[in-house]
Amino acid sequence: MDRASCEFRFYGELNDFLDSAYRKRSFVHAFDGSPSVKDRIESCGVPHTEVDLILVDGEPSTFDRRLRGGERVAVYPAFQSIDLGDIPPLRPPLRNPRFVLDVHLGRLARYLRLLGFDSVYSDDRTDDELLAISGAENRVLLTRDIGLLERAALVHGGFLHETDSRLQLREVLDRYGLQDRIAPLTRCARCNGLIGPATPALARGRVPAGVLREQRRFSRCHDCGQVYWLGGHLARLRARLAEVGVWF
Ligand SMILES: [Zn+2]
Repeated sequence: MDRASCEFRFYGELNDFLDSAYRKRSFVHAFDGSPSVKDRIESCGVPHTEVDLILVDGEPSTFDRRLRGGERVAVYPAFQSIDLGDIPPLRPPLRNPRFVLDVHLGRLARYLRLLGFDSVYSDDRTDDELLAISGAENRVLLTRDIGLLERAALVHGGFLHETDSRLQLREVLDRYGLQDRIAPLTRCARCNGLIGPATPALARGRVPAGVLREQRRFSRCHDCGQVYWLGGHLARLRARLAEVGVWF
């Protein structure tokens, strides 16, 4: 059977997944049979979870459209700033994204929780467990594992381009438009439980004596009992995140 080919062009940060020879330009891509556009996108190294819009010969396409040869395929990453209007989304949109993080992202999980974002994490979950949680609870699976993002069962996934946890936090806030939804110290960094006000009496024995003398405002996790004090924790968090351009 003769090989067919089409022309691909990837945009924005999707180029990071491509071999360097194919970045930021159109290239010819050969294939056998009539594969789905999703199959061919992933064969170029780009996980389907990172793609928000596909144009085939200028028309919006679904993932399962079959390629026959001769098409021009343009592939775009997630947009925050562009209104796609009537174009049907490739996956159901998430209005208030919640997250599940892979086992390597403990520091990012702490930051997300400290800013109030619901983030499931523990350091001993298998890939199958992560996929199951993402599917059952409609959570975005955050990872740097491309193979995990290419699993067909996964609907909502997010690749982290950065390796530093604070830069990863900024990446997540940008991609999902969360900057205005930051609610610091409303969720427990240790267990993801919700935290609420606590009296100094409740905090006694759970925080150092000096802190108890100097601080008046305490919070406590409803689930695990961890005590937080606004002065110290919030000031340190603000200072650390301001260094990477996250202000709140
Ligand atoms: Zn807790």
